[in-house]
Amino acid sequence: VHEHGVPNRSVLTTCAYCGVGCSFKAELQGDQVIRMVPHKDGGANEGHSCVKGRFAWGYATHKDRVTTPMIREKTTDPWKEVSWDEAIHYAAQRFRTIQEKHGKGSIGGITSSRCTNEEVYAVQKLIRAAFGNNNVDTCARVCHSPTGYGLKTTLGTSAGTQDFKSVEQSDVILVIGANPTDGHPVFASRMKKRLREGAKLIVADPRRIDLVRSPHVAASHHLQLRPGTNVALMNALAHVVVTEGLVDEAFVAERCEAREFDRWRTFVAEERNSPEALEEKTGVPADDVRAAARLYATGGNAAIYYGLGVTEHSQGSTMVMAMANLAMATGNIGREGVGINPLRGQNNVQGSCDMGSFPHEFSGYRHVSDDKVRTLFEGDWGVKLSPEPGLRIPNMFAAAVEGSFRGLFVQGEDIAQSDPNTRHVTAALEAMECIVVQDLFLNETAAYAHVFFPGTSFLEKDGTFTNAERRINRVRPVMAEKNGGMAEWDAVCRLARAMGYNMHYDSASDIMDEIARLTPTFKGVSFARLDREGSMQWPVDDAAPNGTPTMHVAGFVRGKGRFMITEYVPTEERTNRSFPLILTTGRILSQYNVGAQTRRTENSRWHEVDRLEIHPFDAEERGIADGDMVSIQSRMGAVTLPAMISERMPQGVVYTTFHHPTSGSNVITTDQSDWATNCPEYKVTAVQVARSNQP
Ligand code: SF4
Repeated sequence: VHEHGVPNRSVLTTCAYCGVGCSFKAELQGDQVIRMVPHKDGGANEGHSCVKGRFAWGYATHKDRVTTPMIREKTTDPWKEVSWDEAIHYAAQRFRTIQEKHGKGSIGGITSSRCTNEEVYAVQKLIRAAFGNNNVDTCARVCHSPTGYGLKTTLGTSAGTQDFKSVEQSDVILVIGANPTDGHPVFASRMKKRLREGAKLIVADPRRIDLVRSPHVAASHHLQLRPGTNVALMNALAHVVVTEGLVDEAFVAERCEAREFDRWRTFVAEERNSPEALEEKTGVPADDVRAAARLYATGGNAAIYYGLGVTEHSQGSTMVMAMANLAMATGNIGREGVGINPLRGQNNVQGSCDMGSFPHEFSGYRHVSDDKVRTLFEGDWGVKLSPEPGLRIPNMFAAAVEGSFRGLFVQGEDIAQSDPNTRHVTAALEAMECIVVQDLFLNETAAYAHVFFPGTSFLEKDGTFTNAERRINRVRPVMAEKNGGMAEWDAVCRLARAMGYNMHYDSASDIMDEIARLTPTFKGVSFARLDREGSMQWPVDDAAPNGTPTMHVAGFVRGKGRFMITEYVPTEERTNRSFPLILTTGRILSQYNVGAQTRRTENSRWHEVDRLEIHPFDAEERGIADGDMVSIQSRMGAVTLPAMISERMPQGVVYTTFHHPTSGSNVITTDQSDWATNCPEYKVTAVQVARSNQP
């Protein structure tokens, strides 16, 4: 539909959607983008793309874009368009007033994984240096924070271990809680190619996702577990490895902490962790678990790929550590074709975490209480920094309701729609005295805001995104900023200055130079190098001047790999007679997250509403026919959606996507969250489903 006209120039840039990070040539006729052409030399995609990257860029020029800064005294007042200067000084004044009344720690901010590394870095610096506290968190809190905790604890750094190309060397591929066909299509194609060449596939997922059986690809094992039993399944797999003599003893002896390994070996060998003992809990036949464990441990190079079906659970961090245990025990880490790989949802989840978006860490995952690191940042930034970790997003909301947290800077993130337990979130937002939203559209969160900073789309940005394989890709401006020529990082710097902290850069490239100066894993990164040599995978340092496709080759980042005990603890969210079904969530190919972008493109034609997938028996029991409107009631609330009867679902489990605000699936998700990181348990909600009278 966009492909008309003859281009007279092109700009090489990076897709703004998923964590694959495909490179594209934006082809233009004058100032008009006429098509996006996948770049054949793109490190992540090698000329491939999906329907989102190729077609869903029209939101950049959508009529809903807000292009002028706006302010209002109260959220019931109409918005007033003002100059950038006025908006910035108004925001600064309100933030300062809050701090005078409630203290330095009464304000904070949230960074976005949709923004560039440079924009994210600027926001976390605004909070640490100008706000004077560490109350910065990221939207990754609600998706991959358990990856950060789990991989850092076991291996020493918070990142996937492989490049995407590595899958071409895999003999066994274990996909857990991910649906790459829809979520990461270009990587899925690469994976399917390897499967067609003969690699074996194990899928662990409650739903019969496309990979289980698609043209020319069939999983050897589909471990169709009950939602919420990931850790039990992983312990059962490990039990087989340990009790059937499948441990790679030489690897473990050389590469891992001996005492922790011995403790772990004893723990998983206990009979209560056997596939037979756990069969009733997981719902997976013990024989299947045994066969899958043998295949993973003895089938050659075995790689794990996982998604939010791993992390968005009350034991998300435990599960990440359980996967690391299994990979280390079988020697499946530290070379091509193996490893543990999070498939990141958003384009810059990896980057936003790398850039110091967590309340306890500076860029490069260094703790704020580390005196040496803090001194380094204090010297460079010329300001005293707090050694106390700040508030996480859920703690900010709790403190807002309780009265001690009163102001929030929200970068490109629709927290009112994407965070769990929407009612609690909106109560927190309503309680705040100043919310600044920096975004393209007046999203759901903006309804609670007092200041709106119009943002820039990826077609207007200059900077970098870091994809799921740690690849730092350049994002180049294809068109002029539509918001009066204000780069997002520049608006943030001006806000910092208005609050009394002198933060200034001449360009996004300047910001990257500072990142490289202060972050060892980015030491050799600069725009000049990226422009000259193409993308690079961090760490880029003296030991790896050209980057690092595979991590932990000679040793783990933490030295020796650390096995962790991964006791299975069932979620508090239980089914009962009132709520007998489990609701789990996911996405589809043509849409992206809460749909703020894709719904404003022609991709919306492919998916106009979210639907509830339900097994035929569960539907029949409730008198539900395909297409009927059904109400889904949880302990937290209710929503109404059309039903889609589907044998992809097991009995007792229902599923929906969350791309449309009207479906509001987060209205019904629970308060449960990962014990280590507070990542919400989106994947397990006990519900009842009934036919609705609503048309
Ligand atoms: Fe590539 Fe992901 Fe963009 Fe699709 S959405 S083009 S797979 S980066």
